[in-house]
Amino acid sequence: MGEPNSVQTISTGDRELGMGREITRRDFLNGVSIAVGASLAASSRWVTAFGIADSPFAPEKDAGYYPPAKTGMRGSHDGSWEVAHDLRDGKVWPEAIVETDAYDLIVVGGGISGLAAAYFFRKFSGADSRILVLDNHDDFGGHAKRNEFRSGNRLLLGYGGTQSIEAPANYSGVAKGLLLELGIDVKRFYKYYDQKLFSNMKLNEATFFDKETFGDDRLVMEEPSTYLGPRYSAKAVDQMPIAPEARRDLIRLQDAKVDYLPGLSPEQKRIKLIQKSYKDFLLQDVKVHPDVVKIFQTTTHDLYAVGIDAVCAYDCAQYGFPGFSGMSLPKPRGGDEPQEEEPYIFHFPDGNASIARMLVRSLVPESAPGDTMEDIVTARMNYAKLDDAESKIRIRLNSTAIHVKHVGDPHSAKEVEVTYVRGGQARRVRAASCVLACYNMVIPYLCPEMPDKQKQALAYAVKIPLVYVNVQIKNWKSFQKLGLSSIYAPSSYFSNIALDYPVSMGGYRFPASPDEPCVLHLLRTPCQPGLPCKDQYRAGRWELFSTKFETFEHQVRDQLGRILSAGGFDPAADIEAITVNRWPHGYAYEYNRLFEPLDRPDSERPCVLGRQRFGRIAIANSDADGHAYTNIAIDQGHRAITELMASRVTHLHATHLHSTHQG
Ligand SMILES: Cc1cc2nc3c(=O)[nH]c(=O)nc-3n(C[C@H](O)[C@H](O)[C@H](O)COP(=O)(O)OP(=O)(O)OC[C@H]3O[C@@H](n4cnc5c(N)ncnc54)[C@H](O)[C@@H]3O)c2cc1C
Repeated sequence: MGEPNSVQTISTGDRELGMGREITRRDFLNGVSIAVGASLAASSRWVTAFGIADSPFAPEKDAGYYPPAKTGMRGSHDGSWEVAHDLRDGKVWPEAIVETDAYDLIVVGGGISGLAAAYFFRKFSGADSRILVLDNHDDFGGHAKRNEFRSGNRLLLGYGGTQSIEAPANYSGVAKGLLLELGIDVKRFYKYYDQKLFSNMKLNEATFFDKETFGDDRLVMEEPSTYLGPRYSAKAVDQMPIAPEARRDLIRLQDAKVDYLPGLSPEQKRIKLIQKSYKDFLLQDVKVHPDVVKIFQTTTHDLYAVGIDAVCAYDCAQYGFPGFSGMSLPKPRGGDEPQEEEPYIFHFPDGNASIARMLVRSLVPESAPGDTMEDIVTARMNYAKLDDAESKIRIRLNSTAIHVKHVGDPHSAKEVEVTYVRGGQARRVRAASCVLACYNMVIPYLCPEMPDKQKQALAYAVKIPLVYVNVQIKNWKSFQKLGLSSIYAPSSYFSNIALDYPVSMGGYRFPASPDEPCVLHLLRTPCQPGLPCKDQYRAGRWELFSTKFETFEHQVRDQLGRILSAGGFDPAADIEAITVNRWPHGYAYEYNRLFEPLDRPDSERPCVLGRQRFGRIAIANSDADGHAYTNIAIDQGHRAITELMASRVTHLHATHLHSTHQG
């Protein structure tokens, strides 16, 4: 693959789009790059009460260190991934500096799962627990990242990853309990989320047909929703730039009650439809025109991050996709049942970054003011306090673990030793136990001493790549003029574009007037239709790592211009900032049924086999349960800590370590 759309020079067309124009793209902090290998020269940043006493590398101490306000390429930003890739490629680091501080627990991975693990550990072991959390990014939260923008003095917020608390009624007691203990009362979102704003303004969803695929750029004022089952009215179908035969087929697909698998029992149909993609079902059984497939191709992107070529027809039936009303399918069973219905409104303005921020505030109280779910929204975190030598709990950013091993035999060892790289320098630190809340696929590299079978199980899944782009625009009058709140674009670079969720809480106000500046949210899932699902994810990851910011910028400007210019939108004048949150290692792999053994019990999935405790090392992260959700991340953090507690491997106290381990 490579860099198909890279913009090296600025053409006339690009200039019209505003490429090369000043937009906010602060990849550097006050001119100080924190990329690995940054200068280690001794400076005034040699610190005593912060970070590691003998290290000059302490970018977090800089007064201007505030990653949420960075724009440009974020998510898996440069400087965060190189060490792990070097590890994969077999690099050996020079002798590590041995730290004298020691801990009860070291957590690798400062996402919601790792932070929750630290929270539960302190809860169960007592306030004196000494915990170190390591994360490779310049900000904590894992996927739960906050994007900040400024328009004059006004703060605008966006979510860089983990979007919403989805269906909280279905959360486990553990996850519900954690939210409550943090002070999150999800019922309040009924007040904070303005569910009527867009409908009162008569703003609708639309579908954008692009000329490269459909022969004409055209906006049709309806959007199929994955959650409700995509459907188009006859009026919308009439306006689509597709073959007349495709129009008839689309209406037939939606309206006709036909059994497309006659002669099979409901159970035989279930199996057949699990083993067949929705695309193949449409083409082979419903026999629709290929244009119909083009319309539906990316409707599954937001949930599966692959198109309907790689999602089984049976799953699409469960989501209400058309074509199954005459099929007499069996009632949903284990895992297929629809969950309790709740509106999709449980959303902080920065997404679940607020949960991560509340966890951090609880673990390191000096890191942020306030104590409510409302005041966290506008709170400015003090990053200089995250890794304070005075604090029992320390969160160390810009630090990639490269080796985690027992000191001695895993079955009888009393300590775990974690080597990590920070500022280009390997460092070694010890604890009584360790939670790996990082990606499953990294663990075999970190822990080569694990049994081979466990490593194979952990390496089985492939993380799902996707990109969330936030675009700050001067105002959203063009949306009002065109009567739009969101756009589905089946074959464009970004498959979904939407005004941000209208949430106002605490001191934060959603820009409810179209005259106000706001943040648009764009989704791209870089899959490769036609390949097996995991290969699509691998190809997508490669695409994300090899695509430059300028390519994303060009696509943002081009697509927004083509869709919104009829409403007066001018990409050159109206775009004020762009933040690309690329997640080459995004969603946990969710065991896509089209490519997995039929009806394998959940308990036999490789993630369950792989997450077994290994001596003093337990495994968390949403990967550990194969579901990309916040509640799962919390539950897995809890399970990992419960396993360590049950095995009593946390009992050795850090003070003991400290006295026995002096380098
Ligand atoms: C774009 C996007 C949108 C999402 N939207 C939602 C949503 O709306 N609702 C929902 O419930 N879920 C959503 N999810 C799923 C989300 O992944 C989970 O909800 C949750 O945030 C995962 O937390 P985690 O701690 O398990 O993993 P992560 O957030 O991935 O955290 C793991 C951390 O470990 C770090 N790490 C890895 N290796 C190392 C190493 N060697 N050393 C140090 N650190 C390491 C990683 O870089 C990362 O920071 C979304 C995910 C993505 C990517």
